[in-house]
Amino acid sequence: MKAEIISVGTELLLGDIVNTNARYISRELAKLGIEVYKQITVGDNEDRLYDTFEESLKRSDLVVTTGGLGPTTDDLTKEVAAKFFNQELVLHEHSWERIQDRMGKLTKNITPNNKKQAYFPESAVVLDNDMGTAPAAILKKDGKAIIILPGPPFEMQPLFEKEVIPYLKNFTKDKLVSKTLRLYGIGESALETQIIDIIEEQTNPTIALYAKQMEVTIRITAKSETEEEAYRLIAPVEERIRDRVGEFVYTDSDSYNGESKDVLEEVVARLLVEKGLTISTAESCTGGLVAASLVNYSGISQVFLEGCVTYSNGAKMKRLGVSKDTLDKFGAVSEETAREMAEGISKSSGTDIGLATTGVAGPDGGSDEKPVGLVYTAIFYKGKTKVMKNNYSGDRQRIRTRATKDLLDALRKELMK
Ligand code: ATP
Ligand code: MG
Repeated sequence: MKAEIISVGTELLLGDIVNTNARYISRELAKLGIEVYKQITVGDNEDRLYDTFEESLKRSDLVVTTGGLGPTTDDLTKEVAAKFFNQELVLHEHSWERIQDRMGKLTKNITPNNKKQAYFPESAVVLDNDMGTAPAAILKKDGKAIIILPGPPFEMQPLFEKEVIPYLKNFTKDKLVSKTLRLYGIGESALETQIIDIIEEQTNPTIALYAKQMEVTIRITAKSETEEEAYRLIAPVEERIRDRVGEFVYTDSDSYNGESKDVLEEVVARLLVEKGLTISTAESCTGGLVAASLVNYSGISQVFLEGCVTYSNGAKMKRLGVSKDTLDKFGAVSEETAREMAEGISKSSGTDIGLATTGVAGPDGGSDEKPVGLVYTAIFYKGKTKVMKNNYSGDRQRIRTRATKDLLDALRKELMK
């Protein structure tokens, strides 16, 4: 079944509000295995809305609209839909009673235009709106359907869940299921090169790559009559992908929701808590970002004992016990200093793990020997210290963020060993 979403409202066209309804409905329809062909936004204008119905229903079987169901004359979605299907509007007694009940609680002044919201074609399936006055409806003709829903998301979403999904389930047999792998430490083009043959071979499941800030996700989507069967189709493809790039996969989820939540830090924090490993941090160029990332995870207090920002040489010596010799001989930005910082913080905090960062975040302070972007990070764990040397490009913020994420990812790999 093909569907289109028509978002009605001049506010949307003016950019006054963001069209979150279309996004919500698209995702819900995808879950039901209904293909969304187009999303269209149209103003509160009778002729253009009529034309849009005409275009959409030529191509597709189902149109879902939101907005334009209110009591005023510029709310005309239902009227135009009925006109398009040549259906007359008649008073729907049940809805009129509900509107009166609802209005009675809020105000004594029910105006005639409130009654307009209770008119529907006789053949329509009317859906009660528990969150507002405007009922929604499903209008049908010749195997085509228009589902009209109110604009406010808090009214539309419960209606969609309670009424529309059960209705649509009767019409669809295919289920769409997705599995998302999230990768850190590999770029989108490098990733594509490594799995391009797998991507090209597939039709069901399909594979899509999405680049996000400093990470890439792979979404494998399969379609089948049952969810179990769809997952069965996904499994071997996922395995082939993991065989090639599994080292970069830091987490997976079946219902990745597209939100730009930083999951890497959460994965690391959860591993620490699960393993009961205590941790402390000593940061120079990242200035507390590593600690802040860990602290974003709400259960971290069990294992995160202490974080120090030791910016000056003096602080590195006094707080972490970095030796003056080391600083004089190798400098603050050096493998040796990073090592002593990680060991020093873990020792003085009494933690299983000590993390350290030291580098030149720029834009000033670089030299030929130690250019902007040179960052040493260190992990002290199980009596050993691993130091990593990185040369980052970009501005100060990017260098610091990159160093933080790389360090957390390196720790993740250590903890997985
Ligand atoms: P009302 O009875 O409140 O007039 P309505 O069904 O007529 O509802 P609109 O008048 O089109 O809907 O929109 C009402 C409000 O709903 C908007 O001001 C906006 O806050 C929200 N809204 C409408 N359309 C959308 C959309 N596509 N995405 C997100 N929010 C929306
Ligand atoms: Mg309105």
